[in-house]
Amino acid sequence: MTEVKWQMLLKSAFETEEVEIGCEDCHEALDMYAELLLEKADPAAAMPAVEQHLKQCQCCAGELEALLIMINEAVLGNEASPTVGG
Ligand SMILES: [Zn+2]
Repeated sequence: MTEVKWQMLLKSAFETEEVEIGCEDCHEALDMYAELLLEKADPAAAMPAVEQHLKQCQCCAGELEALLIMINEAVLGNEASPTVGG
């Protein structure tokens, strides 16, 4: 008589500390991300999850670009607006 014991031990070797966010979360953080960029701050350090998402999501990367252009134009528009009166 032979007794065979099967032991199955499954260890997950994949431990990721990276936080993955979705497009919705990304959109919500995009405003702040763009502002930090324009302030010459380091949004990638402040929001690594967003940075990570932007790297793998063309859609959100495009959103950020559009947002940056919009903010830039708004800033330029404010500066260029003539002050009437005096
Ligand atoms: Zn996305």
